[in-house]
Amino acid sequence: EDVILSVENLTVDFYTYEGVLHVLDDVNFQIRRGEIFGVVGESGCGKSVTSRLIMGLVASNAHIKAGKIMFNGKNILKISEEELNKIRGKEISMIFQNPIGSLNPVFKVKDQMINVIMNNQGVDKETALDKAFKLLKIVNMPDPERVLESYPFELSGGMAQRVMIAMAISSKPKLLIADEPTTALDVTIQAQILKLIKELQEKLGMSVLFITHDLGVVAQLCDRIGVMYAGSVVAYGSTYNILKDPKHPYTLGLMGAIPRPEHKGKPLPSIKGSVPNYLDPPPGCRFHPRCQYAMEICKKEKPKMVKVGGNHHVACWLYGGEGD
Ligand code: SF4
Ligand code: MG
Repeated sequence: EDVILSVENLTVDFYTYEGVLHVLDDVNFQIRRGEIFGVVGESGCGKSVTSRLIMGLVASNAHIKAGKIMFNGKNILKISEEELNKIRGKEISMIFQNPIGSLNPVFKVKDQMINVIMNNQGVDKETALDKAFKLLKIVNMPDPERVLESYPFELSGGMAQRVMIAMAISSKPKLLIADEPTTALDVTIQAQILKLIKELQEKLGMSVLFITHDLGVVAQLCDRIGVMYAGSVVAYGSTYNILKDPKHPYTLGLMGAIPRPEHKGKPLPSIKGSVPNYLDPPPGCRFHPRCQYAMEICKKEKPKMVKVGGNHHVACWLYGGEGD
């Protein structure tokens, strides 16, 4: 299999005035060429932190305790700023939840797009404008001439996200990171943007890392997923297999179902409790304070990933923990 990005054993602390936050705890996943990979989890699970690290955006208070992020044979966490600048915004680009806020309010769309395109491709202004227009066509922007002459506040959220996507794909990235790109949009527009991302992924042959709290969205869009809880990937594999027959108690909680066959179909009210405090995360399986199946071992030892079916892995002592 052809892997474009590999996050391996990533373990990261953050130093704050309150103390050391043990946020990422041995995160592992791989993104293949030409696939849409979803990272799904509640807010605060570490998914956005992970995506920022993939962009090489390491906060000054971050301490990488272990692990690496391999992109095209290079460890993003180890390469020089100069090398990073050749990758960031070019080979890997990113779109965010708040597209209007991601645009500069004082410049017209035209000027921002021209700027990005000139920077990334070293073309002159006229060529960049021409490319900007074509990119807006590619993202199915209604009335691209008018949009180019608009300021960000004149755009709807959906239009602004199309502008962000147009800029993100202008350099034909190998990997597009989309961090909750549709969360702020209404349902109809959300569906259009998801469809657009899927179309572009196929047309450009790029890989997409799609970050969301919404299992419905990943079901619709993603080939494979990693379910993240409190700084670790707890379930990993094909979206279809994981959602058809969820095994990890946290996945089940997210889906509002419970694992025992005799309980099948009875919904959980919600997952009780909240994401743990990273100052002092629970030992063993970080989910144990919220897990109705927790056993003694869960409080002591972190479970390893084990195979529980075709293209479906979970880190959970219910399925043994000898590793694979
Ligand atoms: Fe629950 Fe234990 Fe599995 Fe963690 S390892 S999800 S606490 S059963
Ligand atoms: Mg986030």
